[in-house]
Amino acid sequence: MDCNIVSNAACNNIFSHSLMTFYDEANYHIVINNILKDVLNLYNADRSYIFLYDLENKVQKYSYEICAENVSPQIEIIKEIPLDNSPFINNILFNYSSFIVNDIDNVNDLPEIEYEILKSQDIKSLILTPITHMNKILGYMGVDIVKEYRNWSDQDTTLIFLLGQIVGASVARNKENEKELSTTHGNNIIRALESIYNDIPIGIELYNSSGCAIDLNNTDMKIFGIEDKWKVMGLSIFDNPLFPDQYKDLLRQGKGFDLIFDYDFSKTTEYFKSNYKEEIKYINCKAHIIKDKNDKTLYFILFNSDITSLREMQQNLIISKNKAEEADKLKMAFLANMSHEIRTPLNAIVGFSDILLHTDAQDEKEEYSKIISTNSELLLNLINDILDLSKIETGALDYNEELIDLNTLFEEFETSFKLRLSKKINLILRIPANKYRIHFDKKITSQLLNNFLSNAVKYTIEGEIEFGYYIQDNGIKIFVRDTGIGISEENKKKIFNRFEKVDNFAQGTGLGLSICKAIIDIINGEIGFESELNKGSYFWVWIPCKIES
Ligand code: ADP
Repeated sequence: MDCNIVSNAACNNIFSHSLMTFYDEANYHIVINNILKDVLNLYNADRSYIFLYDLENKVQKYSYEICAENVSPQIEIIKEIPLDNSPFINNILFNYSSFIVNDIDNVNDLPEIEYEILKSQDIKSLILTPITHMNKILGYMGVDIVKEYRNWSDQDTTLIFLLGQIVGASVARNKENEKELSTTHGNNIIRALESIYNDIPIGIELYNSSGCAIDLNNTDMKIFGIEDKWKVMGLSIFDNPLFPDQYKDLLRQGKGFDLIFDYDFSKTTEYFKSNYKEEIKYINCKAHIIKDKNDKTLYFILFNSDITSLREMQQNLIISKNKAEEADKLKMAFLANMSHEIRTPLNAIVGFSDILLHTDAQDEKEEYSKIISTNSELLLNLINDILDLSKIETGALDYNEELIDLNTLFEEFETSFKLRLSKKINLILRIPANKYRIHFDKKITSQLLNNFLSNAVKYTIEGEIEFGYYIQDNGIKIFVRDTGIGISEENKKKIFNRFEKVDNFAQGTGLGLSICKAIIDIINGEIGFESELNKGSYFWVWIPCKIES
């Protein structure tokens, strides 16, 4: 059996299908593309295409093309051919006849130049049929066979000729519409509406009742990175892999929806060609259904908004809000703490100063003076802490480098802290036998050590406090170890936070360690601790500095 033969039924089907699309479909691009697709499939052809004549400029323009798989498209390469380049073929077409070729190497009188044009496209057999309307020739439709030779039958040439007539009517109908638009009074309003449609900052997609894309506006093309509108025309919304099935069902039932979803372009490469490859956009898609008076769906319209940046903004706002709330909480805690911490020593100072004035007994006087002096010291420390932190927070750290004799400094601390300790605590100093001297700021060194030692004293009831320093990695490591109350796992995360006190009732402002951390950050040092609840803590800082021995 000759596999080239096409059945009558197939021909009839294609003709009636094309005619129906012509009547149902307002968009002539869809009509033409459908016809080309049908012809390609029917003849198992390799290319079906349309050239339209531009007689004014004496060129034939490659206007539509459908190619079989693995056949190289020509539309981008050829684009247009001067009429003068193919006088032999054009002459046949202008006489309303078809140019029918069964074997390209066997065409009588075909001029060399026209033969070369066809041969360069690997064509073996082809048929070109004129596209006419009202006795005017508009162009021609072509069917190329590249992979084999085909003997075109009369039935084939007639069918292709008739389809060419439908194409002609579609092109003419569009021209009529355009003409009508440019001449009618409503022209300006329509132009205005058109520009609103295209440039409104919402993507609009229009689908016919069977779900095929029939139009989209400029904004939609931008949102989805589509360059050539006509490449997505005719795609079915029901084939879009990103659309959740339940929403496709809603459309089938003629129901609209409002959906917010992640549009992952890496998953749409099979469905349509986009400039976006890996991006994920956050899309708000509202579907609206246009129905006729019998409630039958006519069109689906999708309104798309790209809300990716809006979501980012919203997320940033939430982060800022949480941060502000956190800061507010810390500020409130700080103020509550502060008023307690200031009032306690201040009350003691004011109260005992008053009593002191009215006391004659020497031993009582001495005791009250001692209380006043301890509380004054507490208050002074507190105020110093606040001032220090606010200064460091602005990035200003007073730094005066000098040569510090570390052993002497640590011994001074030993002496002064021994006076403050209860008898239940044993203070042990561990310093190297070698008397190291460092180039660093003495005030900062003392402040770090003082904070650690004060905490150790504050949080140790009995046992030992061991402190000292040793040389490590171009710097010194200062440490304080105690056998105090220790720090729970949960609280370990908090202790360097500003104004964060683990125990709100304990004495202290929760500033000491944050000051140490802020200082260490500025001088590029390191700070850390180990601690076990009810066993004790080990705090350390490493200070980068020049060492002399
Ligand atoms: P405070 O002035 O409240 O002591 P710090 O910033 O110096 O503030 O310390 C923060 C918190 O870390 C303290 O409230 C305390 O709970 C905990 N902490 C610090 N050092 C020690 C330590 N040696 N032993 C147990 N807990 C400690």
